[in-house]
Amino acid sequence: MNSVTIAPLQDYINGEFVEPTVEMGKMVHNANTGAVIAPMLATSAENVSHALNSAASAHTSGIWSKKSLAERAAWLDQVADALLAQVDQIAAVESTNTGIVISTSGMVNHICHLAFRAAAGVLRSGALNKRMEGPHGDVEILDKPLGVAVCIVPWNAPAALAAHKIANALAAGCPTILKPSEYAPYSCQFLAQAIDAVGIPAGVFQLVNGGAEVGARLVGDQRVRAVSFTGGLGGGRAVAAVCAHDFKSLQLELGGNNAMVVLPDADLDATAAGVVEGMTTLNGQWCRALGRLIVSEQIADALLNAILDQLATVKMGSALDPESKLGPLVHAGHRATIQKSVDELVAQGGIAHATTPRPTHDELENGYWFAPTIVTGISAEKTREEIFGPVAALHTYRTIEEAIELANQTPYGLGGYVYGGDTEQALEVARQIDTGGVKVNGVSLMELNVDAPRPAWGLSGFGVEGTLETMRVFLGQSVVGVAGA
Ligand code: NAD
Repeated sequence: MNSVTIAPLQDYINGEFVEPTVEMGKMVHNANTGAVIAPMLATSAENVSHALNSAASAHTSGIWSKKSLAERAAWLDQVADALLAQVDQIAAVESTNTGIVISTSGMVNHICHLAFRAAAGVLRSGALNKRMEGPHGDVEILDKPLGVAVCIVPWNAPAALAAHKIANALAAGCPTILKPSEYAPYSCQFLAQAIDAVGIPAGVFQLVNGGAEVGARLVGDQRVRAVSFTGGLGGGRAVAAVCAHDFKSLQLELGGNNAMVVLPDADLDATAAGVVEGMTTLNGQWCRALGRLIVSEQIADALLNAILDQLATVKMGSALDPESKLGPLVHAGHRATIQKSVDELVAQGGIAHATTPRPTHDELENGYWFAPTIVTGISAEKTREEIFGPVAALHTYRTIEEAIELANQTPYGLGGYVYGGDTEQALEVARQIDTGGVKVNGVSLMELNVDAPRPAWGLSGFGVEGTLETMRVFLGQSVVGVAGA
């Protein structure tokens, strides 16, 4: 099985499902087979305005913002229940559309219900609306919804990323408009259906479709007071510039060019396994994917051989096949971009190494396959940018200082990894990498602690992600109390 049936795309505006009517002149494809799913569609300008008007009215009326935290938490729990029942369907749709292997999308899409549950938990935890002592009684620190919220997500894990944003925006009390990526809009339909099914009032949650133009129209509306955006640097910069105009609250989760420092005493097979995981998770289209492999020159040749041996055994195949460890890239244009990046490194003297066999099944012939590639022999000056695919450059170092300098040499700062036999020494190196988080002796999609913040340094973003941290993007504080004479 290389696909599942995908229902036609719908917008969800003012409590009703309606068809998006603007054809964008491209097709959305099944990444595994290259087959057309449907024309790429966008919400009409008129309906984007309708959604904004409806959200603004919902905010003014207080229909959502004036509900108690307990009431909102109860709604969010109901949405979580509805999404829990849909995890397998969401995962299958994403695996068909994006090529993310079902073992990963099945796991990642549990975030959909967990995000709603976690946001409900924050509302009940007492973390909001604190009190302090004042001269004439309590001083209230109110956490109030800022107003209409816009959430924009990319194509690599759309439903989970969207669920995290919208759960927190809705928990905060903001009428929320979601726009998924035009390349992978289908899995977010399940979020709208779950919210509709529990009867959240019209205008409180809405879903529109389309690309940068629709996103820009939403972000540019003055009534929108908070924006959470995950995507690339170009889109992030454009969104930030618009938000700066009227000082909207903004959260940006952007790209990464994440380093792995391998110390001389690292276990070669375990490190090679970590490299493979770092290059193949979400088919290398992961913001925390491995981009730069920084290896002690004493072990570089042996490690490269171990990595290439392991990559040769990775099963690249249909994302719907539970046995597949690696699926295709998301779309033909993205594959061309990744190939161009590798070609440019090779043209500058790099050597590309790739050993993973592509699938041979006839039906998969036109899928967007790309074998994970290690590039050696390239100057570190040439590998500063994010590639956002299963490609890593290998650089060697002689001293620890040099390794740390190489790890800190990119303008990004999202993730990082250190492998070493002496855990304390590896942790000491990890502490010196200027990035949102560094994992020692392991590479995993899982957070070290789900409650830990997920910060972004440099060009990797703006603001901190996390359940309470993301909810705060949508909240404004107001301090109220009796001043006395
Ligand atoms: P993209 O920036 O092209 O698009 C992301 C979303 O933004 C899409 O919905 C798109 O339609 C919209 N968009 C683009 N330009 C816009 C504009 N000017 N105004 C409003 N909306 C706009 O990114 P992509 O190619 O879909 O995703 C890949 C990027 O996402 C990579 O750089 C990756 O690192 C990043 N990413 C980051 C994280 C994270 O948590 N930091 C997670 C996943 C992906």
